[in-house]
Amino acid sequence: MRSLVHWLRKVVSMCFGLLFPGCCVGCRRPGESLCKICYKEILPLTCQYCPVCGEESVLGKVCCGCAGNHDDLYGLLVGAEFCPGSLLQRLLHSFKYKHHPELAGPLVTRLFSEDALWEVAQIVDICVPVPLHSQRLRERGWNQAERLAEEIAGKQGLVHDATLLCRERETKSQAHLHRSERYANVQDAFVTRGPSPPHVLLVDDVATTLATLESCARALKEAGAKVVYAVVLARSRQRQ
Ligand SMILES: [Zn+2]
Ligand SMILES: [Zn+2]
Repeated sequence: MRSLVHWLRKVVSMCFGLLFPGCCVGCRRPGESLCKICYKEILPLTCQYCPVCGEESVLGKVCCGCAGNHDDLYGLLVGAEFCPGSLLQRLLHSFKYKHHPELAGPLVTRLFSEDALWEVAQIVDICVPVPLHSQRLRERGWNQAERLAEEIAGKQGLVHDATLLCRERETKSQAHLHRSERYANVQDAFVTRGPSPPHVLLVDDVATTLATLESCARALKEAGAKVVYAVVLARSRQRQ
């Protein structure tokens, strides 16, 4: 059913594309989904930070000072800062809600250097997307995190598995919740289907607090993972 919805959307979008030649999702200029001007306007982070305290840290690894209290995640590689109203925010919104899976490739290429992805790929065995609840997946027809996991895995010669982790409980959207509500909202929401490989790269589009990623990491660790690294295209500075 899910693949049928995805397939139908693809056909509709192809027919639409033939009738109305494509344009840039960012600026509506005719041409590709992401024009060269918008591509260059997206600014990747120039360095990475400990995802817990925000101190500069190589490849976004959790620093020694924070590791004791936040040992579920090994690190978080972030592509860019998520600013409301920015071009990147509009692109990510269209990517997720207006069915533009073709943006995954250029966004990953623009936001992560080959070196950074390569170094992370040396630590992990598999890419696992943050899952949607089955009901949400049926409504939307696809999971944007799964497309990103596929893209990163393909670039680095890793495998990806969108079935290992599942969101057992439907959770509210995190967007309008406060920090403590976000943690409560996703607590124990994720389970694994079967044992986890030891070194996992968890993939999502956007993170604000670490609530969702840590909850996923905990489930993976309970299933046998030793290291859970995470990667997101963008992280919001608004963490409260
Ligand atoms: Zn453009
Ligand atoms: Zn830290």
